[in-house]
Amino acid sequence: GHPQRISINIHVYGKGRRLMLTRDVTALEQAEAMRRDFVANVSHEIRTPLTVVSGFIETLLNLPLSPEEQRQYLQLMDVQAQRMQGLVSDLLMLSRLEGSPAPGGTEWVSAQALLEQALGEAQALSNVISGGQHQLMAEPCEPFDIAGARSELASAMSNLLNNAVRHTPAGSVVRAGWRLCSDGGAEFFVQDNGPGIAPEHLPRLTERFYRVDRSRSRETGGTGLGLAIVKHVAQRHGGQMHVESTVGQGSTFTITLPPSRVLVA
Ligand code: ADP
Repeated sequence: GHPQRISINIHVYGKGRRLMLTRDVTALEQAEAMRRDFVANVSHEIRTPLTVVSGFIETLLNLPLSPEEQRQYLQLMDVQAQRMQGLVSDLLMLSRLEGSPAPGGTEWVSAQALLEQALGEAQALSNVISGGQHQLMAEPCEPFDIAGARSELASAMSNLLNNAVRHTPAGSVVRAGWRLCSDGGAEFFVQDNGPGIAPEHLPRLTERFYRVDRSRSRETGGTGLGLAIVKHVAQRHGGQMHVESTVGQGSTFTITLPPSRVLVA
């Protein structure tokens, strides 16, 4: 067979004092490193809630607690169990999305119905985390249908709306809606007047487990996989995800769809 070719770069630093040899990292090695990182991240994300649950179980087994105290511990364990459930369902979703290039089961879906469903979920989330203090507003648009996978589109829209609730303080205003574009395509947008995102973070937001504020993401039930899911869903539907943000003013996330996926009645 062919001899294996390895390119070697030689760097000489300073006054010839230091010699360094580096081999070109092959695509295969990069993929392997990414896989290792991913497995390490997933393990860490599971271990943290699991440690908390184990601690509470130990307490329940070993300490004489009143029924009221027992109930409190069980509720805290429930939060951690839900966190693990959220992580597993996002991981499964992501693995489905990465496993096939086309959306699963395309049908015509009403853009308005998708918006109402996602807004309902975001309202429920706001009720839980801020006592319903977020102002969620639907932007009107003429009715149209989208050719796509209903569950994927719903998940992508919910992720953006839920993020706008989870990453902004109580009292923030979130506007969401569809817009028909001049080229015959359409876009979904979610705009908030929250803290915004510094420019250096923007290119990395769709990386799996990348978070600007780890503790806030976890406290509000984030898995760190939401925007990775949104990006995949947009791309599978022939579109893209965009983000514009100004620190101190807020963020706008959009999902664009090409004309081939849009049918105006
Ligand atoms: P998470 O589960 O942490 O929300 P995502 O992948 O959905 O994970 O988002 C990645 C990160 O992007 C979040 O942790 C947060 O730091 C930032 N982010 C997403 N949406 C917003 C927003 N509307 N306002 C401010 N930061 C946001």
